[in-house]
Amino acid sequence: MKEALVSLRGVSKTYRLGEIDVPAVRGVSLDIWRGEFVALMGPSGSGKTTLLHLVGLLDRPSSGQLVWNGREVAALSEGRLAELRGRHIGFVFQTFNLLPGLSARDNVEFPLIFQGMPARRRRKRAEEMLERLGLADRASHRPGQLSGGQQQRVALARALAVEPQMILADEPTGNLDSQSGQEVMGMLHMLASEGRSVLLVTHDPEAAEYAPQVLRMRDGTLEHGA
Ligand code: ADP
Ligand code: MG
Repeated sequence: MKEALVSLRGVSKTYRLGEIDVPAVRGVSLDIWRGEFVALMGPSGSGKTTLLHLVGLLDRPSSGQLVWNGREVAALSEGRLAELRGRHIGFVFQTFNLLPGLSARDNVEFPLIFQGMPARRRRKRAEEMLERLGLADRASHRPGQLSGGQQQRVALARALAVEPQMILADEPTGNLDSQSGQEVMGMLHMLASEGRSVLLVTHDPEAAEYAPQVLRMRDGTLEHGA
């Protein structure tokens, strides 16, 4: 039977700031299928990042049901969520979030340490990923020695190293020139065509054009249909 990789039903997330409740996501229902490439657009503050964090198991819904690969998230321990995240989800952020003291290769290897992969296999995997992203000759460079576009490709290589089922990208082109941005989008498109699910948060209409499905958020709710 065909099953969504992630399924949300009436999911809400309310942040509590002292005495004040901030409803960031309100009653969102959404399925993300395997190999689906979805762009999520909407004004600043509309809840895009919060929704991405929920889908990425970085946070739990305040209410509603979230099922990840057949598992009801409310029933899972923090440890189990972290394990699912580490094995199945690759994150890409606007600010790259690379470790500045490590080479590109060591950055890509980093998430594999937590999988207990032996050092030699880690290194081989990292080098394969960097090669795939066109960075074989930059493996020993530190992030500060790379352009923004190259840093984001290292971040993509790191996200891919664990062979995730899903890539979550929050404004990945926000700090890039348009040429580098297009390269990153092309790669996300390729990953989706290989069967990984991609959820891209962006307010760049050009970037969203790469995604066959575009969802829009407003005031914490989802407007279905492109
Ligand atoms: P977007 O990514 O679309 O800009 P966010 O998901 O970051 O939107 O934020 C949605 C709403 O939730 C905003 O009103 C924001 O101020 C609020 N918010 C986001 N994160 C937190 C937090 N950690 N604590 C309290 N409020 C938050
Ligand atoms: Mg955001």
